[in-house]
Amino acid sequence: MKKLIILLLIIICGVHELTAQKIDITSVDEFFNIASKMKEGKHITENQWMVFDSTGGYREYSTRRDQIRINIIKTSLDLTFNDNNINILKDSILNINEEIIKNNSDLRLSKMTLINFIDIKDNFDSIKAFRDNYDFNNLINNVTKKLGSFLGKPVDSRIRFLPVYFLFQENDSQTRENGIYIDFNSFYRKTEEQRINLLAHEFFHNYRRWFENSEFNRKNYLYYYIDVIQNEGIADLIDKSEGYRKYFTSNGFDHEMVENWNSLYVQAPKDLERLQNLMIKFSKKKVTEIVAEKEIHDIVKYNGHPIGFYMACKIVNAGYKEEMLKTLYNPYEFFRLYNKAAKKQNDFQLNDTFMSYLNNIIKKYYK
Ligand SMILES: [Zn+2]
Repeated sequence: MKKLIILLLIIICGVHELTAQKIDITSVDEFFNIASKMKEGKHITENQWMVFDSTGGYREYSTRRDQIRINIIKTSLDLTFNDNNINILKDSILNINEEIIKNNSDLRLSKMTLINFIDIKDNFDSIKAFRDNYDFNNLINNVTKKLGSFLGKPVDSRIRFLPVYFLFQENDSQTRENGIYIDFNSFYRKTEEQRINLLAHEFFHNYRRWFENSEFNRKNYLYYYIDVIQNEGIADLIDKSEGYRKYFTSNGFDHEMVENWNSLYVQAPKDLERLQNLMIKFSKKKVTEIVAEKEIHDIVKYNGHPIGFYMACKIVNAGYKEEMLKTLYNPYEFFRLYNKAAKKQNDFQLNDTFMSYLNNIIKKYYK
């Protein structure tokens, strides 16, 4: 009997333990519970919110000292599904313009989350049916296969992938220390191929972590960005190989956002030059670490995606993909291959001062 209860609990909780790959859907289920009650005009008790907070995906935000993200999610739920709400706040969030959003990540999240939740409300029953019928086991098999075919070899079976947490948040997914967090609405909206690619992108980060020297990445923001440019650049080849404009359009991003990403991609050579100049200034101690860290945030946008993807595309177009994958954990090699490719294709090349500085700082971490 006890065993049966435990089994039932596992099923009810929506946690799938598959061949050591954990997929957690508890946040999606609890979101549906609360949203359904709100739609019926019912009050959400303190206790129900506590259950919500304790589900796999939302626990990541509810246990943070700063409660901004979990509050954005709860407020958006309330504004979307509770009919008694005054629309002024809702409208003012929806009307926040892109210029403000660029420099304020909390407002960006508030707007993106609310837009996403309104979309969920419009497709509530279909998303619920999708959750009930989707084959999560099959997804993981396909993702591992996809990653293997990208890498050109089967993924080492000793590599353990992080748990995957599905939840409703903004239209985005993230890989963190403890798991991969995926917005379930954007997941639902994708084609099966896009779903596999998305997760293969995240699994790539997970795979690369086995080879990375995290001491390097954590030394300061300059090192972090040098590393993440390679990490995101190569990963984008998995799911965004058709280019940013097509990818973001077909994944439901609004026009302004699509253009934003695209223009950052186009201006990558200029940003690379700025990055180079800043690093050289830093190496000659003409700028302090604190000032340089501040400046680099302004150069490397969207966590290094556009610059990295630009470099990775150059490398692949020049025919060095295999070489790039052999050293997928070593940022110096990535910059070196980019330069080789850029020379071949008459594009902006990083200068020798920068390259030898980069070589010097990285060789201490990678033999
Ligand atoms: Zn990524």
